[in-house]
Amino acid sequence: MTHDKTAWIEAEIASLKEQGLFTHIRTLSSPQGAWLVVDGRRVLNFSSNNYLGMANHPRVVEAAKQAMDRYGVGPAAVRTIAGTMDLHLELEERLARFKGAEAAVTFQSGFTANLATLGALVGRGDVIFSDRLNHASIIDGCRLSRAEVVAYEHNDPDDLRRKIAETTEYRRRLIVTDGVFSMDGDIAPLPEIAAIASEHGILLMVDDAHGEGVLGRGGRGIVDHFGLHGQVDVEVGTLSKAFGVVGGVVAGPKVIIDWLRQRGRPFLFSSAMTVPDVAANLAVMDLLEESTELVDRLWRNADYFKQGMRALGFDTGATQTPIVPVMLGEAPLAQQFSRRLFEEGVFAMAIGYPTVPQGKARLRVMNSATHSPEDLDLALDRFARVGRELGVIS
Ligand code: PMP
Repeated sequence: MTHDKTAWIEAEIASLKEQGLFTHIRTLSSPQGAWLVVDGRRVLNFSSNNYLGMANHPRVVEAAKQAMDRYGVGPAAVRTIAGTMDLHLELEERLARFKGAEAAVTFQSGFTANLATLGALVGRGDVIFSDRLNHASIIDGCRLSRAEVVAYEHNDPDDLRRKIAETTEYRRRLIVTDGVFSMDGDIAPLPEIAAIASEHGILLMVDDAHGEGVLGRGGRGIVDHFGLHGQVDVEVGTLSKAFGVVGGVVAGPKVIIDWLRQRGRPFLFSSAMTVPDVAANLAVMDLLEESTELVDRLWRNADYFKQGMRALGFDTGATQTPIVPVMLGEAPLAQQFSRRLFEEGVFAMAIGYPTVPQGKARLRVMNSATHSPEDLDLALDRFARVGRELGVIS
């Protein structure tokens, strides 16, 4: 008897391909920047989260090199066992100051920062109120925490109030929301949510992955954007997007940050960011504190691109940030659009189910401070050409 243990996977992959949902991962042979060499072709980049161009900034690269000369490469074990490098502590102090928080702790990624925080703050018998469109890392963190999860309608404080009123069995409670929603580019109504959290004495956590380095004064994030310092208990961020490196951060009151160092499982059981990561992030902090020029340019570029797309007749959804969804509906159309754009020299990824709901496939266009005015005009021209060809605009 033969046991074909993986036949089901082949069937699943074939089905994904049939539905236009199979992800083709392109190969880059250049640094991240406005222009990339992708699959051997030079193309204009609208796919990465390198909002400020830090991923290949000469000062950031140089800082990583110098730190490696002094400290080597790896942290060699988890921080609670091998000890923590002063470099990691320096980054955490700088991040806390930058964000106007009492303290901060870093993780390997934004994903592990969410897992660590949710698991440490709530558990069995507790309840989490979670925006229906929250990021996968929040969803997984909620599941791992073993708390009961009550989803409220997207960006809907009234529904949040209703769900809080209906949920009477609990030990402790926590509200969690993305700051900027990564597939739509809309911003959570954090002042209303913070007022609800405060009124009911509920812990409030925001995942500001796409707001870090983008929102607020000089990129200080969503809490700064809304002037809510001291009113949000936990601000999670990532150092892999606007910071252009890799890593996660949690900022908030010292007592919570101390607790994450004791009970955040990815902190306790997984090694920290490497030396070049930390040094590169410190150089990004220097750049952000020296000037708001890159953040300002990012927003100018995004506004110009959005206006151009809307004038052409594209549906750019509910975006309020440099993330621009180009709503297309069915996944095969989104994939075809992305493929044709690529042939025209523009790299913008199609996003389909399960990352977004069925029937809400789109291109996700990521603006960046690295684009020149000529780059943006070229992109608008190519979008217009492909949009007309595929009957998306007239
Ligand atoms: N939260 C949100 C909202 C995100 O968009 C992402 C990245 N896709 C993450 C968390 C995870 O961040 P990282 O890539 O640093 O793990």
